[in-house]
Amino acid sequence: MRFRTKQIHAGVTPDPTTGAILTPIHQSTTFVQPSVDEYMATGYSYSRSGNPTVRALEVKVATLEGGADAAAFGTGMAATNAVMMAMLNAGDHVVFSDVVYGGTYRLATQIYSRFDVEYDFVDTSDAANVAAAIRDNTKLIFTETPANPTLKLTDIAAVSEIAKSHGIPHCVDNTFLTPYYQRPFELGADLIVHSTTKYFDGHNATVGGAVISRTPELHERIKFVQNSTGTTMSPQVAWLTMQGTKTLSERLDRQSDNAMQVARFLEGHPKVLQVAYPGLESFPQHELAKKQASGFGAMGWFEVQGGVEAGKKLMGLVELWTLAENLGSVESLITHPVTMTHAAIEPAERLKVGITDGLVRISVGMEDAEDLIEDLQQALDRV
Ligand SMILES: *Cc1c(COP(=O)(O)O)cnc(C)c1O
Repeated sequence: MRFRTKQIHAGVTPDPTTGAILTPIHQSTTFVQPSVDEYMATGYSYSRSGNPTVRALEVKVATLEGGADAAAFGTGMAATNAVMMAMLNAGDHVVFSDVVYGGTYRLATQIYSRFDVEYDFVDTSDAANVAAAIRDNTKLIFTETPANPTLKLTDIAAVSEIAKSHGIPHCVDNTFLTPYYQRPFELGADLIVHSTTKYFDGHNATVGGAVISRTPELHERIKFVQNSTGTTMSPQVAWLTMQGTKTLSERLDRQSDNAMQVARFLEGHPKVLQVAYPGLESFPQHELAKKQASGFGAMGWFEVQGGVEAGKKLMGLVELWTLAENLGSVESLITHPVTMTHAAIEPAERLKVGITDGLVRISVGMEDAEDLIEDLQQALDRV
């Protein structure tokens, strides 16, 4: 089966008792056991440990990424946390991409640091930096590509090869491109993390996350943390996410196409100092983007003439673009990372990795590109 067929059918079978075409929302805490001898005969006992609606989504996500199995979580951060908890002991060391989602940075520096987990944030756009950062106690390499918000890319195959040669699992946060455009397992990764809040849902309706494992052994470790810490996704969220996932490819194609048009417009506007979009020839890692992904995604950023003040003013002048955190939804969103998504990172650290005060992040939605461009035009003209 090919991707579009899988995104609709994987994990979903008509309900055997009613014929309902959609997987029902199994809103039940517990599942009746036929007898003591037949405990878990249905595969379910208690919804923290497993729920049929959540399971259907897990199967779908695992199938789309091409992994052995998946575990769904209450949020993307719960998914990232599960990877760290499953792979690390006190005294272990992690190599992270220097540009990661702000919450991932906070988790390492403010939570895991308290449990004596050591870490380095390195520029993973050069795989040699990963090799150089590996220590005897390194037990996890965690990269995010394209990275939020600068879009810096990591060569997944090159980092996976280094990870493999040291016997260290490589986890990729694949939230920005999803398996429709980027397939980390085929490039050698061992674990994949998603904030399903973003493109899998796609409609600004839920928060959720998933960890997909290359092997059953890795999945067992993730599943154990999911059940032990109780960070499981709820059945309603799984159901909504599942419906969103069925149109993932169509949304991404349209949103990416819109993003390319918006990026080209911004590139030609006199008040825009810099535009970053992996599909532009001017993007520093354009060749790598073409090599390791089949699409460029719908995230971009730009810097307006006039710094923070102009950036802030612009966000007040746009009418169609919505000022909000989140990304990947059908609605086009505009964000100021320094005051919003990446406020958890210290100012000096932010600057070092290119998150400047005037950076405006855009998540391009599914509206008509002409309307999105006209709105930016009127706002930029008045900045
Ligand atoms: C949003 C996001 C997360 C965190 O996901 P939540 O669902 O908000 O907890 C992790 N990684 C990336 C790249 C994200 O964009």
